[in-house]
Amino acid sequence: MTNTFGGKPHVLILGGGSVGLTTASELRKSLGAEVAITVVDPRPYMTYAPFLPEVGAGSIDPRNVLAPLRKVLTGTKVVTGSVAAIRSAEHTVVVETEEGEKLEISYDYLVVGLGSVPRLLPIPGLAENAIGFKQVEEAVSVRDRILANLAEAATTKDPKARKRLLTFTFIGGGFAGGEAVSEAEDMVRDALRYYPDLHASDIRFVLVDGAPFIFPELTEEQRAYVLNQLRERGIEVKLETFLNSAENGLIKTSDGDEFETDLLVWNAGVKPNPVLSDDEASDLPVVTERGPLMGKVQVLPDLRVNTENGPLDDVFAAGDCAAVPDLASGEGKFCPPNAQHAVRQGKRLADNIARSVQGRPLVDYYHKNLGVFATLGMYKGVGRLMLGDKEIDVRGLPAWAMARGYHVYAMPTLGRKAAVIAGWAANLISRRDIIGIPQAETPRAAFEYAANSGKKK
Ligand SMILES: Cc1cc2nc3c(=O)[nH]c(=O)nc-3n(C[C@H](O)[C@H](O)[C@H](O)COP(=O)(O)OP(=O)(O)OC[C@H]3O[C@@H](n4cnc5c(N)ncnc54)[C@H](O)[C@@H]3O)c2cc1C
Repeated sequence: MTNTFGGKPHVLILGGGSVGLTTASELRKSLGAEVAITVVDPRPYMTYAPFLPEVGAGSIDPRNVLAPLRKVLTGTKVVTGSVAAIRSAEHTVVVETEEGEKLEISYDYLVVGLGSVPRLLPIPGLAENAIGFKQVEEAVSVRDRILANLAEAATTKDPKARKRLLTFTFIGGGFAGGEAVSEAEDMVRDALRYYPDLHASDIRFVLVDGAPFIFPELTEEQRAYVLNQLRERGIEVKLETFLNSAENGLIKTSDGDEFETDLLVWNAGVKPNPVLSDDEASDLPVVTERGPLMGKVQVLPDLRVNTENGPLDDVFAAGDCAAVPDLASGEGKFCPPNAQHAVRQGKRLADNIARSVQGRPLVDYYHKNLGVFATLGMYKGVGRLMLGDKEIDVRGLPAWAMARGYHVYAMPTLGRKAAVIAGWAANLISRRDIIGIPQAETPRAAFEYAANSGKKK
């Protein structure tokens, strides 16, 4: 063991997301100052992604879905940088800082919680014109764009421009994509009361999905319920349809439709962090067969990374980037990539590292699904609650309240929980804000304009 931290075992955690944050705080609770902990992440905060659809809908202030790592993880070293190489054979990781500096960090225990990235397809114009919905700035940008477009469309005399400005296209109807479009449509419906020049029929929300259904995690009946609800609200849901092209904002779909859009949001799936499947960057074993597990780190049920030659006793992985056997669902099943599992795997992982430090046997990860819930806009929701072997179908206001309640409970830190609730309470009094500030993406524009003596370049 390479003890470079005052004789204490050094736990190096890659990624400060759901897995990373949970593991670090649980380890601190169980082992106190007995271990040195380092967390590496290019962002100095953890993003609570389940709240992003509500950020995109202006229901939650963006900062309130972020947990600042340095504040939450006191006594833990936080390195702001990206993992560039994992060399488990040498017990080291190379981290690249924003300045391009390379830091080599050694460890006694390694935790890989590098999450996932959007899975893109080679569709013309997609990379140039679309935006993802995994990061807080993306959700903010979607919200700002939609609200700014309402203001522009209400002013323009050009019917073609107006149509493009008011057409919002979302690709992917899984939980994240389905919630994002539903919440955004709800926000627009709310904002329209302040736009006498715009009518609901001017707005076009399009949701495209290649599957024959949306919200795959729901039961067939619930999927039908959601589909009806979205269609009744005027969201055009195109099923078994693919995006063929998005060049210059001109959308072409496989059903022969063609239309211009000013906003294209890509939510059609995720893949494990690509640094893990890059042979030159990482020597950890990943699943190579095509399918939903491809690129994920192979782990045993106790979350140790498993190689051809047996498990690595000092390397653990969990969350979206790991193929974790789902013992509660049966043999051959793997945990789906969600926060419910990521947080609980983080807890199990921290306990297993503590056990390893203390020479006790490790315990397998076992978690029975608690259910799934989605919000579809204010007071609208759907979900399945698992109570033992019983499954309860919840819809409408109760489902919406349960989803919100669960996420407040799961949101890290008391301060953020309180801020989210306070924001919701304020919205009840003064309604959601209707200001979009897309100018935030080019903050120097006004200054440059002044520098050019008021002349537009
Ligand atoms: C819009 C949206 C809505 C969702 N809604 C739900 C929901 O309602 N319920 C639910 O259970 N799940 C939901 N999820 C899924 C859930 O957020 C993820 O499954 C969960 O966050 C995975 O945890 P993780 O720790 O594996 O990854 P993450 O929480 O994504 O953390 C990965 C971390 O790794 C960091 N990282 C990336 N690259 C590097 C690098 N090279 N070096 C160092 N660090 C790096 C990232 O910055 C990030 O902080 C949603 C996701 C999205 C995007």
